[in-house]
Amino acid sequence: MRFSDFLAGAGLATIVSAAVTAKQPSFESKCNAFKSKIKVANSHVHDVTYVPIGSNITKEYDASTCSDGDSSPATFDFCRVTLNVTTSAKSHFFMEAWLPSNYSGRFLSTGNGGLGGFETTGVKYDDMAYAAQYGFATVGTNNGHSGDTGKYFYQNTEVLEDFAYRALHTGVVVGKELTKQFYTEGFKKSYYLGCSTGGRQGWKSIEKFPDDFDGVVAGSPALNFINLINWGARFYPVIGNSSADTFITTAQWTAIHSEILRQCDSLDGAVDGIIEDTDLCQPIFETLVCNSTAAADSICLTAAQIKTVNTVFSPLYGHNGSFLFPRMQPGSELTSVYYNGPFQYAEDWYRYVVYNNPEWNPATWTIEDATVANAQDPYQISTFQGDISPFKKSRGKVLHYHGLEDGIITSDTSKVWYHHVVDTMGISPSDLDDFYRFFPISGMGHCTPGTGAAYIGQGPSTFVDNNPEDNVLLAMVRWVEEGIAPEFVRGAKLNGTTVEYRRKHCKYPKRNKYVGPGSYKDESAWECV
Ligand code: CA
Repeated sequence: MRFSDFLAGAGLATIVSAAVTAKQPSFESKCNAFKSKIKVANSHVHDVTYVPIGSNITKEYDASTCSDGDSSPATFDFCRVTLNVTTSAKSHFFMEAWLPSNYSGRFLSTGNGGLGGFETTGVKYDDMAYAAQYGFATVGTNNGHSGDTGKYFYQNTEVLEDFAYRALHTGVVVGKELTKQFYTEGFKKSYYLGCSTGGRQGWKSIEKFPDDFDGVVAGSPALNFINLINWGARFYPVIGNSSADTFITTAQWTAIHSEILRQCDSLDGAVDGIIEDTDLCQPIFETLVCNSTAAADSICLTAAQIKTVNTVFSPLYGHNGSFLFPRMQPGSELTSVYYNGPFQYAEDWYRYVVYNNPEWNPATWTIEDATVANAQDPYQISTFQGDISPFKKSRGKVLHYHGLEDGIITSDTSKVWYHHVVDTMGISPSDLDDFYRFFPISGMGHCTPGTGAAYIGQGPSTFVDNNPEDNVLLAMVRWVEEGIAPEFVRGAKLNGTTVEYRRKHCKYPKRNKYVGPGSYKDESAWECV
């Protein structure tokens, strides 16, 4: 089937209603009969349930440890398989496979987030629903433990190994097997969709299991993971508690954000509140220093606070001066998670992995701790092996994106990674384009929309339409199956539920420049240079 046919068919309502009227009885009975036919090693199948369109999808298996235990209505007809898979004598993971009646012949694995599930969920149900409604046989796991916490790593490296790579990969192996056992035709192509920790998992697959996927959509990835943890750990000792003279208040961060926009917004040619290329933005914060003539109620910064801000926007270097992690990119001041107390993931990582000491105090972190953590790098969770030639050789494709207003994982780290791949492989960006394309997304936060045109269809919460130019998942399908590679990713800015404007995001290392004429809301007024 050509992609255009897929799209024509993906008037999803057409497919689904046809399925409901013509295929439902046989699909339902096929699903009901499936449990006795499943053969998967080292697993225990909980349930195989037919889920008709309109019924509630309960998230029962995560309800005990995850807050997202609610339910939502199915918008498509599918066969739901829930199972546990054993990975060692001391570890196992929970997974689900959603096998839709409108099957497109494609397999897809979702990923996770944070130190477990995304926003406290184990399985990323929203991504599963998003992919399965397009007809993908879709799987998701809880990544080896439930809940957004590192405490299960404590004195159990098997759980850590699941988290680093094993749960995802094993879920793919099991999920492909289930897909072949359920659909007699098997599957034609295999895909991956994930953001944040899910972005790292996508890259880990590319590095370690280059044949797992034909197409990988990896967003805002937690690459260089140990140093991301170290970078996150650094903020608290630098900023301190609210009583410290180094601490910066929310009102002051707002003033800092305004000053950054004042210095950087126009560098792309348009004053629209959005910084198109954060590399061009090298703000000078001394403009905010309190002086004797400042009005008493004006917001200004002391010398100690200026030092704090300059550190936040500087890279992290190791004790011997080696580069560890880039600066926080300017523009994310209002959404960052790092400026009000310890970073939970760093605290968990040091307590339950690095030192096996639940009492470890994040206020004591120094660069010497980073040295210890980096020497461990368990199961190469750092995910920073720049030679991805096996993935290229297996004809895989990867679409990598990162929001330029990301306040949790600075988008500068994706640029560092891109250059690391170029340098390691000795390959030019134009040759890299054959299988790896990176799109920085202005106006996007951490895997979610920010102030700009950031609806790019990487999940249900950022869906606008089924045009592959506006939808990174469908762009990947078109690239893999029709060989049409994305030259840009177009995002939408929404005002309520209405599209206010669209903007094309350029393929790195090109950057977006306003050339006019007309409004900055006109996508043709921008050019990739
Ligand atoms: Ca601008």
